[in-house]
Amino acid sequence: MDLIRDAIRTIPDYPKAGIQFRDVTTLLKDARAFRAAVDLLVQPWAGQKIDKVAGIEARGFILGGAVAHQLSIGFAPVRKRGKLPHQTLIEEYELEYGEDAVEIHIDAVDEGDRVLLVDDLIATGGTAEAAVKLLRRADAEVVGAAFAVDLPDLGGAKRIEDLGVPVTSLVAFEGE
Ligand code: AMP
Repeated sequence: MDLIRDAIRTIPDYPKAGIQFRDVTTLLKDARAFRAAVDLLVQPWAGQKIDKVAGIEARGFILGGAVAHQLSIGFAPVRKRGKLPHQTLIEEYELEYGEDAVEIHIDAVDEGDRVLLVDDLIATGGTAEAAVKLLRRADAEVVGAAFAVDLPDLGGAKRIEDLGVPVTSLVAFEGE
């Protein structure tokens, strides 16, 4: 896990004062760390039947796409509002200031699909919770959620587990 932790760069005060931005682009450019991260994201779910990976825009597309490829299953993009061309389901969620929304195509998953949700990082869990709600509205079963980074002080992983979705992460960083 040190390989993963050391490959993640921290940018202080980005995008605003007080936020420690955990930048995974440095992990993605490092072949060994990227390979290890994908293997470790997949590992806990290896014994389970999973039909699709749902990845959250944008860094969840990179990791989630690689996870889907490794599992030889399909990929469903969870996008920010207004980006998907076909008919969508939309779920709004609260931010610290204001609100945002995520969308999936109405046919992104099939009824009864067992779906693994993937993103680079879980902070408050607001985005992941909205994604879980969307997938459930599409009649999929969210069997788990896998993140490279957890910020446990923000409580997101607990929030997702309280929805009945098991959560795994590769590294945790204290603080925000
Ligand atoms: P949240 O909905 O609060 O769990 O925020 C999760 C989303 O915001 C993820 O897609 C992350 O990529 C991004 N994010 C939130 N906080 C950070 C942070 N400190 N460093 C990097 N990305 C973050």
